[in-house]
Amino acid sequence: MPPETMHALTEMLRIVSEQEEEITCWDCDGDGFVKLFHGVVGCTRCGGYGAVPKITATWYETGKAIKRARLSRRVNLRDEAQRLGVNPMAYSDIELGKIDPATIAHLLPQNVALSRPEPLKGANDEKM
Ligand SMILES: [Zn+2]
Repeated sequence: MPPETMHALTEMLRIVSEQEEEITCWDCDGDGFVKLFHGVVGCTRCGGYGAVPKITATWYETGKAIKRARLSRRVNLRDEAQRLGVNPMAYSDIELGKIDPATIAHLLPQNVALSRPEPLKGANDEKM
């Protein structure tokens, strides 16, 4: 096997194992349930399991950034979901980091960082 193929395979395996790695659920602290004012309910983030895939921590951070961007435009959740053509429940789950935000990345304004920042383009090639 050529070294570059070997390298690509190793890198792929590393990414896969990172995605499968689990971390303690931050909503319930690993308990699998959360205390609300009217009692104790099963944790919706981890489904009562107490742990979540590590990748969802990234979704959570991105979801918060998406929510901040929406709030800065003073748009409510339902209107934003409608504007994007996304089910409001699904959109809410994205802001909460329960769904991979990449699923709606193509719909979001470019100022919401979903991946590595792109190099800045010249100020003159703004097209609207
Ligand atoms: Zn949980």
